[in-house]
Amino acid sequence: MQLNNSNEVRLGGDHQPAEREGLASGESKNIPPSCKPVPTGATPVVDINRCEAKGECVRVCPYDVFEIRVLGSNERSQLTLAGKIKSRFHGNRKAFVVRGYACHSCGLCVTECPESAIKLVARHQVE
Ligand code: SF4
Repeated sequence: MQLNNSNEVRLGGDHQPAEREGLASGESKNIPPSCKPVPTGATPVVDINRCEAKGECVRVCPYDVFEIRVLGSNERSQLTLAGKIKSRFHGNRKAFVVRGYACHSCGLCVTECPESAIKLVARHQVE
């Protein structure tokens, strides 16, 4: 894992994944070449004020790191005013990181999110 000054993880890599460590049992997804061979210590972080729950992260992540669900009342209270307005238009649904430990740092979720709401950070920064 490589970090820049803001603790964001550098994406991509030249490793060809040799195994599917961290993949949910029974799942069969295409693993992109940009995925590291094993979980990297990185995890995605979703900006819930930007997220519109379009689900691209769920679709592209080979390791089922994300799920879409409705915000709880405590989570809704943490939104900015703009975030609350935006959230109401999308049924208060957001992407959540539920298996951050399984992230292989391929960066697909970051590049495919239409709202640019996801970044990768070192896991110890968010635990
Ligand atoms: S970078 Fe994103 S898409 Fe790739 S494994 Fe991690 S959470 Fe999944």
